[in-house]
Amino acid sequence: NSILKGSTKVFPFLFYHFLCLMHSNKIIVAIDGYSSCGKSTLAKAMAKSLNYTFIDTGAMYRGVTYYALQEDIIQNDQIDEQKLIRQLKDLVISFGQVDGDENAHLFLNGKDVESIIRGKVVSSWVSHIAKIKEVREFLVEQQRNMGKSGGIVMDGRDIGSVVFPNAELKLFITASPEVRTERRYQELQSKGIDMTREEVYSNLMERDRIDTTRKESPLIKVDDAIVIDNSNMTREEQLTHALKLVDEKINSLFKA
Ligand code: C5P
Repeated sequence: NSILKGSTKVFPFLFYHFLCLMHSNKIIVAIDGYSSCGKSTLAKAMAKSLNYTFIDTGAMYRGVTYYALQEDIIQNDQIDEQKLIRQLKDLVISFGQVDGDENAHLFLNGKDVESIIRGKVVSSWVSHIAKIKEVREFLVEQQRNMGKSGGIVMDGRDIGSVVFPNAELKLFITASPEVRTERRYQELQSKGIDMTREEVYSNLMERDRIDTTRKESPLIKVDDAIVIDNSNMTREEQLTHALKLVDEKINSLFKA
């Protein structure tokens, strides 16, 4: 039902996107999947090769979570949902470039919070914050605006199902829990974030559980998504495969 309501709201965005698509030949690539299966890495690399914009929607949910922690909206192991909903209007989430890093950083009310949103505390709360309907509506509207002209690769949990149900190409990425744990553990180590493998594993499993079972926009594989299991693929192999799918899609849309 909420997806149906979302479809009505998405209509103006789709119409605008259709006009841009005919003009620029640039499509929307929607990437969904479980936690830490390399969605952002793939999305970033695809966007770079295609000269598209990459949008990490998980960072936006992490930004709202960090805000809730800062404002004492999360206290004594509880979220004051009504307070968060009231204060959403004071929240400006944006992406921006910083010196010395080619990747965009997440900004919260003008402050670079890229590093802090990847840490343990935000990771343990983010899926609870992402369950709140009003938070999702607030972010989904911004995501649709960012992507309506096409030429984007957006990754998250509900991109192909809710944000852009008419995206020209939808990918659903998966990998075994062991592979995902090891990759996330190594990534956190390289960023100096202190978490054990066991902590990483239980955080991933818990987030997957919440994300797939929540009422609002649960993580699902939609029928028209192409599954890529990258457990035994290198980053390069996965990128080559995904770019081929983009190429095929663009050929079928514009050169038929
Ligand atoms: O992608 P990342 O792991 O950083 O996302 C953090 C969390 O944000 C996810 O576990 C999920 O709870 C939430 N999320 C979501 N919908 C999205 C992107 C992320 O619910 N489109």
